[in-house]
Amino acid sequence: MINWTDEQRTLRAAAADLGAAVGKDHLERDPTGEFSRTGWTLVRESGLLGMPFGTEYGGLGADLLTTMYVLEGLGESCRDGGFPFSVTTHVVSTGIPLQRFGSAELKQRYLPGVCAGSAIGAHAISEPDAGSDMMAMRTTAVLDGDHYVLNGSKSFVSNGPIADTFMVYARTGTPGAPDAITTFLVERDSPGLHVGSPMSKMGLRTSPLSELFLDGVRVPATNAVGRPGAGFLVLDHVMKWEILLSFVVNLGEMEHRLRECVRHARSRKQFGQPIGSFQAVSTKLVDMRIGVETSRKWLYDTAEKLVARKNVTTDIAITKLVVSEANLASALAAVQVFGGYGYMTEYGVEKDVRNAVAGTIYSGTTEIQRQRIAAMMGLG
Ligand SMILES: Cc1cc2nc3c(=O)[nH]c(=O)nc-3n(C[C@H](O)[C@H](O)[C@H](O)COP(=O)(O)OP(=O)(O)OC[C@H]3O[C@@H](n4cnc5c(N)ncnc54)[C@H](O)[C@@H]3O)c2cc1C
Repeated sequence: MINWTDEQRTLRAAAADLGAAVGKDHLERDPTGEFSRTGWTLVRESGLLGMPFGTEYGGLGADLLTTMYVLEGLGESCRDGGFPFSVTTHVVSTGIPLQRFGSAELKQRYLPGVCAGSAIGAHAISEPDAGSDMMAMRTTAVLDGDHYVLNGSKSFVSNGPIADTFMVYARTGTPGAPDAITTFLVERDSPGLHVGSPMSKMGLRTSPLSELFLDGVRVPATNAVGRPGAGFLVLDHVMKWEILLSFVVNLGEMEHRLRECVRHARSRKQFGQPIGSFQAVSTKLVDMRIGVETSRKWLYDTAEKLVARKNVTTDIAITKLVVSEANLASALAAVQVFGGYGYMTEYGVEKDVRNAVAGTIYSGTTEIQRQRIAAMMGLG
């Protein structure tokens, strides 16, 4: 168990206050999929967007575990599940690859905007014919003098409609080769870059998502993040951070949901007894608790291993799978515990199910995580 310091607890409490404020009108904004601009102003002022980045860029210079602990607090208090998703997407899509792989010039130019939240970030990896199979990526980047020319389209870009910069992954080498992909930082107002309309979706509606079209977009060669051909390496690093930062938010959400379910099960009476006294109900709450505790262990143990520079390939896959599936199971159980009230939109319980399904798809589906674990076991 990690003993958090007073300073870490204070940061988390501030994130929890912020989350509560942002989530106030979540039920009104969910049907229309309205991103909280007020929330973004608050999160910009809080410094949270710059947590894991160097102070020289306006960040807080916090370590991975502290960043996770604070984001867990945001998830615990924020009832607008889409908002923390946009926050973590901004941080991991742009700041994380820049910090690790960006040139000094790129860091100087873009990291202050990431930390301040003045330039919202997004990443564009998935394509119409290349989702789980990224090797099938068709978007190309061809060197022309001191620029690359990008052509292609990207299918699901979280933050797309509100983003100022895009980390675009494009093919610069032979299809299928491990060094075939390069990562580019592309500004929104680049000629030839078109952002599609916000896409209507099942959950995480307040986190806008769109397609992205690249039609002869000229990007300075110096905007490559990492060396040419290192796109898979960049993405591997980004995915580790994405899984830890976005799913620790789900841990916070599960903690809140469990507390609400226990409260309801102790106060709601049927047949003259609190429903929590029926084993069929208490078993659900126990399983939710096990989901919380298991998720916490996998998230923080994996983060500690990553910080210690150990190989976390299997751990990351297990963490992603365990937390996303626990979150979905917990959200479904909560609807059942609340009965008809859980099914009604106005109680905000059913929305969690719709949000949680997304977690089993993005950052690599549940099936792909199982494939990765199998591969690490020498099974193909
Ligand atoms: C809410 C949300 C936000 C997203 N945000 C982004 C973003 O910001 N940027 C971005 O680039 N992408 C984003 N994505 C896209 C996401 O990464 C892809 O949807 C995901 O990788 C799956 O790809 P696909 O949708 O093409 O499905 P497919 O790859 O076509 O998969 C369809 C089904 O087949 C299964 N399958 C495929 N291959 C295998 C296999 N080898 N073994 C077993 N099963 C297999 C999958 O598990 C799945 O069940 C987002 C998706 C969602 C839902």
